[in-house]
Amino acid sequence: MTTRRSVLLGASALAAQGWVAGCAAGGIDVVIVGAGIAGLTAARTLLDAGRSVVVLEARTRIGGRVDTRSLSGRPFDAGAAWLHGGAGNPLHAEAGRLGLRVEDLGTPDTWLYENARRATSDAEADFARTYAALADAVESAGSAGFDRPAAEVFTATGPDVTAAWAAYADLDFGVPPAELSTRDASAIEGGGAQSRIAGGMGRLVEALGRDIPVRLEWPVQRIGWTARSVVAVGIGGVVAARRAIITVPTGVLGSGGVVFDPPLPDRWIRAIQALPMGQYERAGHAIATPLPASAAGQALVMVGPTDAAWVEVEAGAQPLVVSAEGGAAARRLLSEGPAARRAFHDAAARALVGERAGEMVEEFVMSTWGADPHARGAYSAALPGRADQRAVLASPVEGRLWFAGEATSTAWAQQVTGAWESGREAARSVLAAIAAD
Ligand SMILES: Cc1cc2nc3c(=O)[nH]c(=O)nc-3n(C[C@H](O)[C@H](O)[C@H](O)COP(=O)(O)OP(=O)(O)OC[C@H]3O[C@@H](n4cnc5c(N)ncnc54)[C@H](O)[C@@H]3O)c2cc1C
Repeated sequence: MTTRRSVLLGASALAAQGWVAGCAAGGIDVVIVGAGIAGLTAARTLLDAGRSVVVLEARTRIGGRVDTRSLSGRPFDAGAAWLHGGAGNPLHAEAGRLGLRVEDLGTPDTWLYENARRATSDAEADFARTYAALADAVESAGSAGFDRPAAEVFTATGPDVTAAWAAYADLDFGVPPAELSTRDASAIEGGGAQSRIAGGMGRLVEALGRDIPVRLEWPVQRIGWTARSVVAVGIGGVVAARRAIITVPTGVLGSGGVVFDPPLPDRWIRAIQALPMGQYERAGHAIATPLPASAAGQALVMVGPTDAAWVEVEAGAQPLVVSAEGGAAARRLLSEGPAARRAFHDAAARALVGERAGEMVEEFVMSTWGADPHARGAYSAALPGRADQRAVLASPVEGRLWFAGEATSTAWAQQVTGAWESGREAARSVLAAIAAD
C-alpha cells in the first residue's frame, strides 16, 4: 500500500538522488562522522587497508566523550577514565600495542559514607550484601532473556537498597532502576577490576588519532544518500563519498542533530529511539593540604536520602578529589544549574576529606555532557524491552550507511571498549562491501 508518508519519502528520495549524485562525483571511499574513539578506529582500519577517508568532527578537538584535562598538573578525565573488567578488556592489549602503559588497580574496596561520615562496618556489610543481591537479580533476569525494568526484579526497600540502586543503576548505567533494561545490564561486560591508562584516557585518543585526516569544527548537518553515494553537508561545505560511517551519539541522532535525506528506514529510527542517553557527570578539584597515602580510595557517598556520588581521592602533595553524579541525580542537578552541582560535589568531597575540601588550588572543573549538543548525555542506555536494538543499529543501512560507537556494541556498550570495537567492526564491514562492489 502506498501511504501519503511513503509518497512523500519517495519524493524526497528522488530529490536526494539528484543532489547527491550531483555532488558525489570524484568522492572519497568513506566519510566518517565524529572523531571519538569509534570514528578514529574506523578511520585507522580503513586507511591501513588502503582506502581514502575523511573524518568530520564538530568540536575543536578529537576524542569526543574522552576529554583529559589538567588539574594542578595532574590528568583529570572529565569523560571516560577507566578500563573496566581488568585484563579481559580487549583495550588492554590494544593499549600495549600502541605503546601505552596501563595501570592495573585490581578491584578497589569501596567505602560507604552516610550523613557526612563513614558508615559503620555493619552498615557497609549490609550495603555490600544488598548490592550483590540486587545485581544478581537484575543480571539473572537479563541472562535468562527477560528484558524488563530492573526496578521490577528487586523490590525490597530500605536505606541500603536506595544506596545500592544509586550505585548500581544511576552511577553505573546512567539511568534510574525503572529505566534500566535487565537484558542490557546483564549483557554489558566490565565489572570487577579497574585499570587506567597512565597519563589519562586522552593518551589513547592521541595514539589512535595519529595521522588520521580529521576536519575539526565541521558539524555535519545533513547526510544525503543514494544507492551509490553519500554526501555529508555542513557549514564546512560538502564532502562526497561512496559510503559513510556515522559515530555520533544516539542523543545527537535522536534529537535530529543530523538530518538524513531520504530519512532513515523505520528500523534504524526505532533503534535510535530505543537507545537514549543516560547521564553521568564528573567534577574534580585539587586541594592545597597534603593527604597521606591511606586517604586514597573510592567511596559511595550518600548526599541526602536518595542522591549518591562516587568520590575518588588521589593522595599526595596536592590531592585530587573527583566526584561523580549519575542517572536521576545527574538529570536533576543539571537542570538546577552550576551552583547546585557545585554544592553537591562540595558536600560529597567534604564527607571524605572534611574542611580541607574547601582549600582549593583551582576551582572545580565540572563536565556538562548532558547539556553538550555533540553528546546530549554520557552514554546510551537501552530502554527496558529494547536491548536487542543495539544490534539493529549496528547493521548497515542498505549497504551505504553504517552506524558505529558505543551504542552499537552489545558486550561493551557505554564504554570506550565498545566504541573501539564497533569502529573496527564497521570499517571491516565497509571493506567487505567495497570488495563486493
Ligand atoms: C562522564 C563520563 C564518564 C565515562 N566513564 C567511562 C569510563 O570510565 N570507562 C569507559 O570505558 N567509558 C566511560 N564513558 C563512556 C565513553 O566515554 C564513551 O563510551 C566513548 O568515549 C564513546 O565513544 P564514541 O566514539 O562512541 O562516541 P563519541 O566519543 O561521542 O564520539 C562521537 C563524536 O562525534 C562528534 N559529533 C557529534 N555530532 C556531530 C556532528 N553533527 N558532526 C560531526 N561530528 C559530530 C562528537 O563531537 C564526538 O567527537 C564515560 C562517559 C562519560 C560522559
